[in-house]
Amino acid sequence: MKNQWITAKAFLQQFTWKKISNIFALYLSFHISRWRKKPILLGYPTTLSIEPTTSCNLRCPECPSGLRSFTRPTGMLDEELFRKVIQETGKYLTYLHLYFQGEPFLHPRFTKLVNLADKEGIFTSTSTNAHYLTSKNVDDIISSGLKQLIVSMDGITQDVYEHYRVGGNLTKVTEGLQLFLSRRNELNSKFPRIILQFLVTGKNEHQIPDLKKWAKEIGVDELQLKTTQIYNFENGSDLIPSDTKYSRYVQDRSGKWKLKKNIENKCWRMWQGAVITWDGKVVPCCFDKDGSHVMGNVAEKPFELIWKTPKYQTFRKTLLEDRKQIEICKNCTE
Ligand code: SF4
Repeated sequence: MKNQWITAKAFLQQFTWKKISNIFALYLSFHISRWRKKPILLGYPTTLSIEPTTSCNLRCPECPSGLRSFTRPTGMLDEELFRKVIQETGKYLTYLHLYFQGEPFLHPRFTKLVNLADKEGIFTSTSTNAHYLTSKNVDDIISSGLKQLIVSMDGITQDVYEHYRVGGNLTKVTEGLQLFLSRRNELNSKFPRIILQFLVTGKNEHQIPDLKKWAKEIGVDELQLKTTQIYNFENGSDLIPSDTKYSRYVQDRSGKWKLKKNIENKCWRMWQGAVITWDGKVVPCCFDKDGSHVMGNVAEKPFELIWKTPKYQTFRKTLLEDRKQIEICKNCTE
């Protein structure tokens, strides 16, 4: 609870009347659109995810970066392009997640990107596999202005950890975390807040009690137990946990697996935010990992024009009318 308060305070401190009225306009237009089954947009995104890089040091089996299975190119976000996006969107943004696919700390100027957004008064966050929390990097990360660091760690013994984080080294992760937390204390800083994120699968669910104990001992700010997205879930998978509390899927009477949550023809995310790939493509959300629905490119057009482009509006309209027509929306719990 303490962590939520500290985070909420930092989050609320950056609010301006422009950001507040924009959220209100988005919320209103979302509900009017649902009612009319026709999209109208009265604001600009309040959150953005921007991808520093598609490169990754690991080989996770449910991730296209890890599997090297992208059809889109691999590369690094250009700092000038990032600056342009922040100039165009910063006055509305309340949350910037510097992550989409890949390992963000492989970007050589990652902390500079964070610093640039932080100076514009935007709450910044990222997700990492924590293999780069080394003595060379930690001070730089702590002083960058980053507010939230989400660490993905899905096992507390090497054999369980590497079942999903293929190629990962658990000792590096745990030592990096301990180093980070002790340096943050020494520097008397509250940020970035450390969220330990554990994707619960059938292979690691038995470790949850020990994980909770360990997380408390080393002093992470928050532990999140998350459900895992499985690509081909219909015929089951050993990654689906037996405890349905941690699963997005349930078995029906015929033995087939389906999404636990009923799919409704709506998606707040299409009003509230967007995702930008390292090379500037605007895609609807983080489920579009390979960029199948590119709405435009910020390297070629201002973001504000892309946000209201007919292609984007048609996508929103399809969501309001019949979401199942869109492939990526079929396996989404939003
Ligand atoms: S996959 Fe579809 S429903 Fe889910 S967040 Fe993306 S656009 Fe919305």
